[in-house]
Amino acid sequence: MSNVKRACKHDDSDVFFYPAINEDGWKCIGCDAKLGFRPDLDDRLLDSKVMGFIHDLHDRKIIYISNGTDGEFIAHNVEIRCRKADRYDQRFIVAAICNDPNVLGDGGYWRKERNRWLMERPDGPPLEPLPLDVRLFMDKTE
Ligand SMILES: [Zn+2]
Repeated sequence: MSNVKRACKHDDSDVFFYPAINEDGWKCIGCDAKLGFRPDLDDRLLDSKVMGFIHDLHDRKIIYISNGTDGEFIAHNVEIRCRKADRYDQRFIVAAICNDPNVLGDGGYWRKERNRWLMERPDGPPLEPLPLDVRLFMDKTE
């Protein structure tokens, strides 16, 4: 048995991005190496980076993705948005996920529920629903 340890090649299938405020969250799970800030991986493994944030947001119950196909569809939309805007940072990715029409669909439902609750308020007189003139900040950047 050889004592020579083979150098890990950090295959793309072993490399993942973990949320990091300085965009330096690339790691290899094959050898536990911290790969740090890697714009080349941001580009080449953008699908993995985006899907990681979709999973994180879903797992933390911030957004709800009903199935894998929906997640892949949203990821595809977000990747296109990132490449069009030439933005690969986690803030842009998270904002693009939250502003994807498939994710915002839930927002319309909750707005109706909010207005229904305000009109049928159990602990007091009905309140006027809040104004509906919500503008999405992403609309202004594209
Ligand atoms: Zn490695």
